[in-house]
Amino acid sequence: MHARLSPFILVSASKCIGCRVCELACSAAHQRGGVSVGSLQVPLSPRLYLTSVNNVRVPIGCRHCEDAPCAEVCPNNAIIHTTEGVQVEEDRCVGCKTCLAVCPVGAMEMAQVWKRGKPAMRRVVDPSAPGGVRYEPASLASKCDLCRGREGGPACVDACPEKALTLVDPIEVKRRRNFEAALALSRTYEEV
Ligand code: SF4
Ligand code: SF4
Repeated sequence: MHARLSPFILVSASKCIGCRVCELACSAAHQRGGVSVGSLQVPLSPRLYLTSVNNVRVPIGCRHCEDAPCAEVCPNNAIIHTTEGVQVEEDRCVGCKTCLAVCPVGAMEMAQVWKRGKPAMRRVVDPSAPGGVRYEPASLASKCDLCRGREGGPACVDACPEKALTLVDPIEVKRRRNFEAALALSRTYEEV
């Protein structure tokens, strides 16, 4: 059981200009040592996806659902609720894609996971291979982790030139709305 409502990234579609800086910042934040010109050693793999439809552009990413269907259906308990949102434990993921099928916004992706600059490998039974086994790059569940452990919070929020992305703490929003309502009501009573 998770103790509090999960934070999530809110997008203002009216501000987004579709520049994909958020995707680049996300990819860089999840590479060892980051990404700069000439230093790219692995493919870019963002965890939010700029999506265009009917002249609207908006990056789509994980909502860190409170009743996350991805966590509910994972047969290996590889997706867990934490105080930092819904997180994938890659070491437990077997790449079965069940979570991908149930995510209501398509935030989940099966992607290559890179460890120390090399792809994580999976063991495959193959009678034609020496010893009956071969190894191949693993595609594992991958989604927004709110840049867990990154000083300064999610890189996409930092990088967006239009300030279209906001990290929202639902508890803080509720508290602020309550204060605003209380102040408005107190003014109403003073006028009566
Ligand atoms: S960085 Fe901001 S403006 Fe650019 S695509 Fe992402 S959300 Fe839109
Ligand atoms: S991956 Fe999809 S289902 Fe899972 S928490 Fe994120 S938005 Fe919800």
